[in-house]
Amino acid sequence: MRLDGIHHITCITADARGNVDFYARVLGMRLVKKTVNFDAPDVYHLYYGDERGAPGSILTFFEFPDAAPGRAGAGMIHRLRWRLGSDDAVEFWAERLAREGVEFDLDVGDRRSLAFRDPEGLGLELAVVHCHDEPLVAAADGIAPEHALRGFDGVRAFAHPADRPDRLLTETMGFEMPAPDTYVLAGGHRGASYAHDRPPTAVGVQGAGTVHHIAWCDRDQEHAAWREQLARVGAHPTPIVDRQYFQSIYFRELGGVLFEIATPSPGFAIDEDPDHLGEELRLPPQHEHLRDRLTQTLRPLANPRAKAVRP
Ligand code: ZN
Repeated sequence: MRLDGIHHITCITADARGNVDFYARVLGMRLVKKTVNFDAPDVYHLYYGDERGAPGSILTFFEFPDAAPGRAGAGMIHRLRWRLGSDDAVEFWAERLAREGVEFDLDVGDRRSLAFRDPEGLGLELAVVHCHDEPLVAAADGIAPEHALRGFDGVRAFAHPADRPDRLLTETMGFEMPAPDTYVLAGGHRGASYAHDRPPTAVGVQGAGTVHHIAWCDRDQEHAAWREQLARVGAHPTPIVDRQYFQSIYFRELGGVLFEIATPSPGFAIDEDPDHLGEELRLPPQHEHLRDRLTQTLRPLANPRAKAVRP
C-alpha cells in the first residue's frame, strides 16, 4: 500500500466571495466545484484545482459566514506550499502579488520562494520545485501556463516535541524522514512533504483563515486495508464516508492534525460537464431537496473563470 501525495487540503473561510476572488482570480486556480458542506448543507463548500480537478491540486473551503478569525496552533497546519516551475515564475508572482496589494517575503536562498497570507491570514507559499511529477495547471486570465501554480508541494504543521518524530507517519503511512521533523511521501505518481514546527505558545483556534484537514491520495483504493492498518496502531480511523466526488476515511496523526485518506475516483466530472466545472451549484442526492431554499439563502458567487473563458 502506498499513498500518492496530497489529494486535497480543506480550510475555513468566512467570506466565500473574497475567497473566490483571491484563489480563482488572483492565484488563478479553477473553481472546479461549487457545492455545500455535506455535514452542514446551509453553507458553501468550494473546490479549487487545476483544469481537471486532479488530486494533488485540490484546495477546498467550507464557508462559515459567522466564523471569527482563527489562529494556527498545536495540532494545526499553518502553511500550504505550491510548486512553481522556474525563477521566472517567482518574478511573475512577486509582481502580481505586489500589484494586488499582497505583502510577501521573497526567499532567494537554495530554493526561491514567496511566502504570503490569504485575505483571512492563512499562510501560503509558492516555491520553485524541480521534480518529475506532472504539473497540475489551470488556465487563468493574465497568467501564462509557465507561470501558473503546478499543484501542491507540501504543508507545515505545528506539533509539540513530545509528538515527534511521528511513527504513525513513518511506520504506518510510509513517509520517509530525510531530516528531523521533515516527512516525505514518495508516491507512484506524486510526491509531497509534511513538516512539523514547534507550536507557538498561544492555543490554536479553528476559525476563518485556518486549515481544517489534509487528505492523502489512495490511488489504489485500499481503504479497507488502510483502516485495518491504522486501527492496529490505535489511530481510530472512521468508517468509509461517501463524499460524492471521492471516498474517505479520517483519523488524527500523533501531533493532532486531522488526516483523511481519499480516493481519486469518481472525481469532479461525475455530476457536471468537465468543460463547465464549478459554474452551477451542485448538490448530492441527499441534499437535492434543499435546492430551492439554498438558492435563496446562499449568496451568489461570481466565478471569474466563467467570465474569462466563456464568450
Ligand atoms: Zn477532505
